[in-house]
Amino acid sequence: TSVVLLQQATRAYGAGETAVKAVDGVDLAIEKGAFVALTGPSGSGKSTCLNMIGAIDSPTSGKVIVDGVDLSTLDSRRLTDFRKERIGFIFQEFNLIPVLTVYENVELPLQIQGGKSRGQMAEIINPVLERVGLKHLSHRLPRQLSGGQQQRVAIARALVKRPAVLLADEPTANLDSTTAREILHLMKDLNSTFGTTFIFSSHDQLVMEYANRLVKLRDGKITGIEERG
Ligand code: ADP
Ligand code: ADP
Repeated sequence: TSVVLLQQATRAYGAGETAVKAVDGVDLAIEKGAFVALTGPSGSGKSTCLNMIGAIDSPTSGKVIVDGVDLSTLDSRRLTDFRKERIGFIFQEFNLIPVLTVYENVELPLQIQGGKSRGQMAEIINPVLERVGLKHLSHRLPRQLSGGQQQRVAIARALVKRPAVLLADEPTANLDSTTAREILHLMKDLNSTFGTTFIFSSHDQLVMEYANRLVKLRDGKITGIEERG
């Protein structure tokens, strides 16, 4: 079954003659457990697609259905709730909170969700930190970590929610190729262990090596889909 379904999804900016369609009539189904890369040149609509799937942005027409929920039926408050509960996001810039430790950064989404005691949160967080190889660094601040370690924190922070999909916008763009490979290995490992669905954007050749499916975008449209082993 599809965990993400785009049906004629379109996101236009501006109106009339000067309108730009960042995403233009995209049809795409992504099944649970997929490891999919959105590729294409800068400006082709990769981020806009991820943002619509992640309930950060809404289509101006068409449908975006994620985890069985038609996002176009939700008001902005419910979109926010959906994002907090069901979506994990990681970014090129890591986006960690600089004054919080590794542990506290990873705890934050659970605190925002609420409903769990400190001990219950620790039972979720500690195994995830172990899994991404950060247990021994849990008291450090982000600035005391390498780029690769910071991206691991961001991945752990996204995982503790057990999201329906993990979205990654250019996750390796700020990493050297060795570190990028390590992060991709980790993502792939989490994908095969937990069946977490990963959808990421990239124009990095390395990322394309790891993806099970490449969705090629240009000018907001899908120009090709390539399945790989
Ligand atoms: P990519 O991630 O592939 O680089 P984007 O999804 O960021 O592409 O952008 C696709 C197109 O939409 C680009 O032409 C971009 O300029 C335009 N666009 C994106 N966001 C906005 C915005 N907030 N306002 C106006 N145009 C935008
Ligand atoms: P263990 O089974 O010994 O807990 P694993 O390496 O299998 O160790 O898993 C590490 C931890 O990752 C789990 O204990 C759990 O907290 C977390 N985890 C399990 N399933 C998922 C999932 N679907 N998404 C994210 N994290 C998960």
